[in-house]
Amino acid sequence: MEDVRREALRWALTNAAEHKGRANVKAVLGKLVAELPGWRSKIMELSETVEQVVAEVNAWPREEQLFQLRKVGRVERPKPEERRGLPDLPDFDKYPMVITRFAPNPNGPLHLGHVRTALLSHEYARRYKGKFILRFEDTNPENTLLGMYELIKRDLRWIGLSWDEEYAQSDRLELYYGYAERLIKEGKAYVCTCKVEQFRELRDRGEPCPCRGLPAEEHLSRWGRMLAGDLVKGEAVVRIKTDIKHPNPAVRDWPALRAVLKPHPRVGGRYSVWPLYNFSVAIDDHEMEVTHIIRGKEHEVNEQRQRTLYDHLGWRYPTAVQHGRLAMPGVVLSKTQTMRAIQSGELSGHDDVRLATIAALRRRGFVREAIRQLILDVGMTLVDSSLSWETLYAYNRKFVDKLANRYFFVANPVKLLVHKAPSLKEACLRLHPSRPESGERILPLKREGDALVFHVSNEDVAALEEDQMFRLKDLMNVKLTAKGRALEAEFHSLEVAEGPKIHWVSGGAVKLEVIKPDNTTEHGLAEPAVAGLQPGSIVQFERYGFIRIDAVRPKLIAVYGHR
Ligand code: GLU
Repeated sequence: MEDVRREALRWALTNAAEHKGRANVKAVLGKLVAELPGWRSKIMELSETVEQVVAEVNAWPREEQLFQLRKVGRVERPKPEERRGLPDLPDFDKYPMVITRFAPNPNGPLHLGHVRTALLSHEYARRYKGKFILRFEDTNPENTLLGMYELIKRDLRWIGLSWDEEYAQSDRLELYYGYAERLIKEGKAYVCTCKVEQFRELRDRGEPCPCRGLPAEEHLSRWGRMLAGDLVKGEAVVRIKTDIKHPNPAVRDWPALRAVLKPHPRVGGRYSVWPLYNFSVAIDDHEMEVTHIIRGKEHEVNEQRQRTLYDHLGWRYPTAVQHGRLAMPGVVLSKTQTMRAIQSGELSGHDDVRLATIAALRRRGFVREAIRQLILDVGMTLVDSSLSWETLYAYNRKFVDKLANRYFFVANPVKLLVHKAPSLKEACLRLHPSRPESGERILPLKREGDALVFHVSNEDVAALEEDQMFRLKDLMNVKLTAKGRALEAEFHSLEVAEGPKIHWVSGGAVKLEVIKPDNTTEHGLAEPAVAGLQPGSIVQFERYGFIRIDAVRPKLIAVYGHR
């Protein structure tokens, strides 16, 4: 009770501080109930305490309130942007602790859709001070990829997720075997040796297959033969008994475990029987005491299957919350398709810039804050969402524009000589236009005879006419005098003037390649300071776009993000 009093005091003082020294009983009570769901049943006692505490706090002068608040510590509120759009989880207060999980199959790289499930599950666990579990669903030795465990973890960490427990289902086979055996013994599961087509035909008519009615001893013996590797792939599956006339034929006597010959990439050839997704997921959600399953609505039928197992075992199914699908027109999101295209060489890897995998987005200079914000804004909605690259760019721009230093880069460079220029040695320009504190960079100016030598972009030059005035950005105004093989101009003035502004490089320019979003490469010259950037730096090439430095050796390579 003392604890409750202290919490009530913290909330009352915080509330008073935010409302001109007057705490509100209802508001404080609401907060307290959300924080201490276990107290819901003792609401009378709780409200009495709150009333007393609020009256006491409201009677104190402002200085006393603030002094006390410093003593007990203000209640940390979640940052508003993190809560934006996310409603409360149903039943969050019916469990002593909210436990969520993210359960990826390590068979391909994560993309935005997966991160949505992961991030929402994580956000909710953190919101309710609960537990977040990472569980690799790797019970299919035929499509588990060893490299994916680490890659998935790296992507999740990068997004800012942390997990309290981590499991791989391939470590838990004994547990699944135990349940399988128990279900077989109890006549709730059986080993079916029918040909799949034959089984389906009967199932679709709502009729049992010949195996279903055999005595449990027969099924136990078949189970033993499966475990011993005597019944191999295609010869037997363990099925969970359901209502054989279940309205959805796909739910009827669904398969739970099967024989697999291929050794598992992680645990080797130790096991010849592997659970199928619905079986291991259902058991693990119960064993791990998951309270809320957050998953895509494509799992709707799976959920129906899993519920029949919970009924057999007398378990209560967790609260399930579904979200819609996330699509990006023109972008491959499916893991299987992605892996196939990588294996055939059509894509360069899981971070190929044409993909919307987390690895590819990171490589293109998307920052985690932008991805998090985008996903939280899409939120939990059941309707399918369609995302365009433009939307992604807009989110990212909001974050990187403030941070990215500016540099000059000239794509497809052509040489320009400027005659009669004052004898300047260098240009000193701000790294960020609105953040002088970021400092400056120096662009040395190169001379050849009487002329200053620049490189400008072919595309910029194409738009210029002879005798036209233009400005070499942040430096000087010049007039184009010759546009033949060599590009020549005459110095005009220094002060900013009307007319086209084009960017340039001069002394010490470095060669750089930019990988564009369609995976083509553009060549160009960057100002010297770019050579000193670290791989991973996200900067803006002015009038060109935001880029991320991908490699500095043996070549300077940047990946294009967006405008
Ligand atoms: N391993 C499943 C998947 O990645 C998990 C689905 C679920 O949430 O049950 O689709």
